[in-house]
Amino acid sequence: MFLTPRLATPGTTPLPPAVLAAVARPMIHHRSPEFGAILARVHAGLQTVFNTRQPVLLLTSSGSGAGEAVAANLFKVGETVIYAAHGKFSRRWGEMLRRQGVNAVALTVEEGRAPQTAEVIEMLERHPDASAVWLTQSETSTSVWTDVREIAAAVRAYRADTLVLVDAVSGLLAHELDMDGWDLDLVFGASQKGLMSPPGLAPIALSERAWRKAERVDSRSVYFDLHKARQSWLNSKTVFTPAVSAVVGLDAALNLILRDGIEHSIARHAAHSRAVRGAAAALGLTTFGAPPSHAVTAVEFPAHAARFKQVLRDEARVTTAGGQDDLADRIFRVGHLGWQDQGDVLAVVGAIEVALLRSGHSIEPGAGLSAAQRAYCT
Ligand SMILES: *Cc1c(COP(=O)(O)O)cnc(C)c1O
Repeated sequence: MFLTPRLATPGTTPLPPAVLAAVARPMIHHRSPEFGAILARVHAGLQTVFNTRQPVLLLTSSGSGAGEAVAANLFKVGETVIYAAHGKFSRRWGEMLRRQGVNAVALTVEEGRAPQTAEVIEMLERHPDASAVWLTQSETSTSVWTDVREIAAAVRAYRADTLVLVDAVSGLLAHELDMDGWDLDLVFGASQKGLMSPPGLAPIALSERAWRKAERVDSRSVYFDLHKARQSWLNSKTVFTPAVSAVVGLDAALNLILRDGIEHSIARHAAHSRAVRGAAAALGLTTFGAPPSHAVTAVEFPAHAARFKQVLRDEARVTTAGGQDDLADRIFRVGHLGWQDQGDVLAVVGAIEVALLRSGHSIEPGAGLSAAQRAYCT
């Protein structure tokens, strides 16, 4: 009874019709005045989304490329950096730092939990030479939200010159983020998450403090040289050929996002997250990760998981994300990012009910839908 394939993954995401139309337009040249005007508009829009007056550079890569740029531009070989390690993405930043010769020290936190402010300060006490703390606002692999505002304030109070770096890749537009207001030193994202655009672009912004730090380091990357990127940004250009179609798509997406307001986007993600968690509970399913990220809901597999997965994917045509690494057999993840409205989420909840029924669970049909509706309406 299902016709429409549905993408409920935390990146890539469903795209708004206006974005699909924009990326289908004839190609334009990336040094043309036309593209320069689009890029200038995208730059300004991203500053609004990041809540910053600093340049938001647009790197041509997925979100991880921005992390590589951080590791290659901000720290010298042998420098110490603390990073919160509590899932697949947050652990990746440690690996990138190490490959760049940086002494990356992990604040290891059990998967499904967020690093606490006191734990971060304790790490700073143990590593007085650490020049930065790297946090992941929304750990997409475990659906965990980290209070970067509180941690950043505590780090600043403890030692004013320690940089606070934030992976906001799945956090942007799903949770509040105020780069300048919270005095964050570096924030990066990716186009294929809350920005509801095609993959291929990684926006990244540095505070004045972070730029001063980067000026004392010779970039170990030619492609991700942030100083060069900043020079081009000032002229509404990019250093290399950008992902032109993705930029044109992002322009259309930002137009929608800013028309409705950032608060609207944040509230929508919060509502989807509440609805799916409510539905899961009503269907006897256990959710994973706390405090939960609003970008994605992680749900523990029910019994007869293979059949459940097969019905959800092949019969109901719903694509969810699997668990990663150690969580592969334990959870599946329902993404709330991108162009999804209440009706889309209810369709996914309905499909989960069908998959449960067809895999031998005696649930009450409609129980999940009812809980989701209640979550939206209260
Ligand atoms: C998606 C994501 C990234 C980047 O992944 P890419 O595949 O490189 O875009 C980084 N951090 C988090 C938290 C993410 O969700």
